[in-house]
Amino acid sequence: MVDLAAVRANVRRLRALAAPARLMAVVKADAYGHGAVPVARAVLEAGADALGVAHVGEALALRAAGIGAPVLAWLHTVDTDFPAALAADVELGVSGWELAPITEAARALGATARIHLKIDTGLGRNGAPAALWPALVRAAAQAEAEGLVRVVGVFTHLAVADEPARPETREQLERFRAAVATARAAGLRPGLRHAANSPGLLSAAGLERPEDMLLDMVRVGVSLYGLSPFADRTPEQLGLVPAMTLRSTVSAVKDVPAGQGVSYGLSYVTDRPTTLALVPLGYADGVPRSGTGGPVRIQGRTYPEVGRVAMDQIVVDLGAPGRSAPEHGLLGAEAVLFGAGENPSASAWAEAAGTINYEIVTRVSPRVPRVHLHATEERAGAEKEKP
Ligand SMILES: *Cc1c(COP(=O)(O)O)cnc(C)c1O
Repeated sequence: MVDLAAVRANVRRLRALAAPARLMAVVKADAYGHGAVPVARAVLEAGADALGVAHVGEALALRAAGIGAPVLAWLHTVDTDFPAALAADVELGVSGWELAPITEAARALGATARIHLKIDTGLGRNGAPAALWPALVRAAAQAEAEGLVRVVGVFTHLAVADEPARPETREQLERFRAAVATARAAGLRPGLRHAANSPGLLSAAGLERPEDMLLDMVRVGVSLYGLSPFADRTPEQLGLVPAMTLRSTVSAVKDVPAGQGVSYGLSYVTDRPTTLALVPLGYADGVPRSGTGGPVRIQGRTYPEVGRVAMDQIVVDLGAPGRSAPEHGLLGAEAVLFGAGENPSASAWAEAAGTINYEIVTRVSPRVPRVHLHATEERAGAEKEKP
């Protein structure tokens, strides 16, 4: 289940932190597994100024759903359909080689491509290396003079913003400032300078000059979904509400003696008589196979997953014998792997699996139905619908 009222509340909180900078809501990867189209509608309703995705295909899917807000796509391949992007009014990130096919597409269509030039200030992924930046801004200025592109933005991406004590972020922002100056000197007038991701925005207040981080716009992803990008801070501490609940129901319960092996490899063996509950979510649903020991909340208590995570199911040890009797009501009881409030967190599963909360929510697979609660503002105060 995805609570869109939580997403809207998070957008409002993040906008307040970013103001007067604008807010681009990053909805790549199916909105980190939350459902790109319903999330995009919700964030726009709550005041997001623009949407960000990795791929042009993701942007086109938003357009096909009737979403007309500004959308930026920044990760391209030589096969990316730039003409389709221009026809759909999708803004494009440009790190170097993309400028040629984009100007070519603009010429063919008689269109002006809206582009954001990207500089690599230290992350070492895409973005023009500093040495190639002057040539890129000159080429872009030339294309702008020909009416083929309009450089509406300049951006970079931060490498260690989730560790606010590290010095590299400030160095990246200094390099970025120099890169913007180079672009201006080449005659470009990018109105949108943007660098901050969620941890950048959420740590800006601790900087001497928060505006150096916030600039004209922030690009936030994980925090929209109510997750903390910091290892040592919870969503609650950041004023965010987790939007996704991964839940199922107990599909079998059995009493077992001591010495019962559980799941493939029999790596878990009960050390006393106990009750085992089967929950039909496995690695095909996105529960990491490496997540043995992750928490599951059933009937108001949290128990550990035991034994190997299988493709379709996990087993929970309820820690006491005799609970399979019908009066305990376990068959069909709700089983929550993670969610908001008293439920276990996506971060707890990330810890069990040796990964980060981003990966836990993003990898929930298409086999798990996405039920969106509070899809419209008016119903935000209403009772939760039954999924
Ligand atoms: C994914 C991504 C973001 C969002 O990062 P979060 O840490 O989820 O806020 C921002 N900018 C770029 C370029 C990204 O790829």
